[in-house]
Amino acid sequence: MKYGSKVLACLVDVFSHLPGIGEKSAQRIALYLLESGQGDIDTLISALTDLKSKVGHCSICFNYTEEDPCMFCRDERRNRKIICVVEEPKDILTIEHSGGYHGLYHVLGGVLSPLDGIGEADLHIQPLLDRIDDSIREIILALNPTMEGEMTASHLGEMLQSKGIRVTRIARGIPFGGSLEFNDMVTIAKALEGRMEMKSSDS
Ligand code: ZN
Repeated sequence: MKYGSKVLACLVDVFSHLPGIGEKSAQRIALYLLESGQGDIDTLISALTDLKSKVGHCSICFNYTEEDPCMFCRDERRNRKIICVVEEPKDILTIEHSGGYHGLYHVLGGVLSPLDGIGEADLHIQPLLDRIDDSIREIILALNPTMEGEMTASHLGEMLQSKGIRVTRIARGIPFGGSLEFNDMVTIAKALEGRMEMKSSDS
C-alpha cells in the first residue's frame, strides 16, 4: 500500500475530494495532521462536529448561521430597504469581502435548471416574495452569469416587477459562464455600484 497505513490513505482520499485540493495537497495536509499535537487535532475534531451540529440556515435569508435570524438579518445598521439575491451562501462572503454592499441578503439555494429538474419550488423563491413589504425599495439580482443564472434572473425579475418592486441586476464585467466567487473585490464592488435597472424587456 502506498501510504503504509489504511487510516492515512483514507484521510488523503477524504481531503483530495475537497474543492481545490489535489492529491499532493491532500497528502501534505494528512501528514501535517499526523505530526500535529493532540490539542490541534482535538480543536479540529470539535470544529468539524460543531459545523454539522451548530451551523444551520437563517430562517429569513437562508444564509449559514449559528443563530437564527443570522447576523445580517439582525443588524439594524444595515440598509434594510435593499435585498441582494444570491445563489449560494458563499456568494455573500464574496460580496461582503468587496465592501461595496451594506443591505440585506437572500440566498436562493441554486438556480432554475429544468434539465436537472430544479424548479421554482426547489429554490427559496416564495420566502423571498414573502419578505417583500412596503419597506423594501430595491431587489438586486446578483446571480452568476451562466445560462441558468440568466434564466433565473429573468424569471425572478418578472415576478418581482409584477409586485411593483424596483429590480436591478449587477453590471456585466463578470465574465459569462463565471461565478461571483472567482472575481476580485474591485470587480464585485464595481458590478454592484454599476447595477442596472431591469427593464421589462429583459424578462
Ligand atoms: Zn439571515
